[in-house]
Amino acid sequence: MLGHMMKLPLSIASLIRHADRWHGDTQIVSRRVEGDIHRYDWHGAHLRSRRLAGALRELHVAAGDRVATLAWNTHRHLEIYFAVSGSGAVCHTVNPRLHPDQLAWIVNDAEDGYVFFDLTFLKIVESLAPRCPSVKGWVAMTDRAHMPQSALDLICYEELLHSHDGDFEWPSVSEDSASSLCYTSGTTGNPKGALYTHRSSVLHSFAVCMPDAFGFSACDVVLPVVPMFHVNAWGIPYAAPMAGCKLVLPGPHLDGASLHQLFEDEKVTITAGVPTVWLALLEHMAQAKASLSSLRRVVIGGAAAPPSMIRAFGERHGVEVLHAWGMTELSPLGTVNQPKAKHAALDEATRDALREKQGRPPYGVDLRIVGDRGAPLPHDGATFGDLQARGYWVVDRYFRGGNALDDGWFPTGDVSTIDPDGYMKITDRSKDVIKSGGEWISSIDIEGLAMAHPAVAQAAVIGVKHPKWDERPLLVVVLKSDAQVTAAELLATFEGRIAKWWVPDDVLFVEALPLTATGKLSKLELRKQLAHYRLPAP
Ligand code: AMP
Repeated sequence: MLGHMMKLPLSIASLIRHADRWHGDTQIVSRRVEGDIHRYDWHGAHLRSRRLAGALRELHVAAGDRVATLAWNTHRHLEIYFAVSGSGAVCHTVNPRLHPDQLAWIVNDAEDGYVFFDLTFLKIVESLAPRCPSVKGWVAMTDRAHMPQSALDLICYEELLHSHDGDFEWPSVSEDSASSLCYTSGTTGNPKGALYTHRSSVLHSFAVCMPDAFGFSACDVVLPVVPMFHVNAWGIPYAAPMAGCKLVLPGPHLDGASLHQLFEDEKVTITAGVPTVWLALLEHMAQAKASLSSLRRVVIGGAAAPPSMIRAFGERHGVEVLHAWGMTELSPLGTVNQPKAKHAALDEATRDALREKQGRPPYGVDLRIVGDRGAPLPHDGATFGDLQARGYWVVDRYFRGGNALDDGWFPTGDVSTIDPDGYMKITDRSKDVIKSGGEWISSIDIEGLAMAHPAVAQAAVIGVKHPKWDERPLLVVVLKSDAQVTAAELLATFEGRIAKWWVPDDVLFVEALPLTATGKLSKLELRKQLAHYRLPAP
């Protein structure tokens, strides 16, 4: 028998309509690329999003058409998110930190019709334009007074927006239609497009808001440091209007001092970003002897949060770390580390060990680990396996085809354990695992320990060829400024804390570690740089 409930399609426009109607005077603060602070509220954002949607219609942007952005986290980028998806087109966020060849490849693969860009990226746009025949117009996200000189016939964002009066009504869209598109970073082969739907994005927002996920409420002030070009800033631009949060967008200035100032000025309560950003913030605060007066929670994901970072936030600054794991193909939310009631009784060391894990899935995502032949492995907290996921916001195929699933599950490419309480712990990317004498060594565990040493700023462990053991771990470190430590002293700190055969065979000191376009350590690049390295003779 069929039930008798309204069948309203889940839609991205409904999120900002809700925020306008019920949280209309809640602020959105944005540090503009021009440098100053822009302030308005959900009512203003909704109005301007509809003006832009009306202008897009006049440009003949149709349902399903792709519209790209090359932009920082600002109020204009937010407006594009809602104007494009809300009008039925697909908001394609492109990572401007990628190599120009990759950018051209992605824009051509997506066949973007218009590209909105921040002035920071003018040079990139000028080099892309001759190579991207699908693009009908390049929109500079600024006003007339700041329009740059260019050989291209650029469209001015503010003029475009003001060409329409805002009487635009959101069209009704099927909840299964495409809303947004993100490409994977493509560390192996060409990047692949993850195409999200209105339904997956709204369900993902519900999950983000849940108390054991990011726990957003109308009392929160949220600052996503994670870029809106990196998996939709982890869904925060959609979840914030759902919960009625005040939203603070940091623009291009993501250094420790600029972030700290925004946290304090705007009384930010929760923020989110990758570990490299927090290293810089913690270092700035240590040097400036600064504290955090309003920040309560920091979501750390995208790469493993080193235990020393979790402790620094908690013990030094009274900020709770929510360690989270996810990926582009998961929209991205996969797990968040939040305790269960029974964990209140744990002793400190056991609780610390638990907090280092990536956490458990919210309702909406299911996980399992499998062995070589795809057979499920036990959730005993010790067995390593290939991590697989399925759920309401997990891709099943890529944009431009290509089944993404294996036996109904999405293979994440991560290797992990899952403990009997459901807490998942990533030990490595499968491409990065170190196999020594047929057994796996977790590079992430060793990196975490190395980073707990007071002299170490950053650490990476990679496998290098070994005649007897096949591979052995090599530790590569960046020291803190003015700090000193010898290889032997560093290696001594591992004694009794990891198995003897996990202790790296050598330590290399370097000036900097290579990062990917999303600010994560690039082990692929590091292995390339160290291709000629040979282990010392025993
Ligand atoms: P991306 O699709 O660029 O967001 O990258 C997703 C990948 O980042 C995952 O498959 C993991 O390898 C890695 N990752 C994300 N979050 C974490 C985390 N908390 N700890 C360890 N690795 C992570």
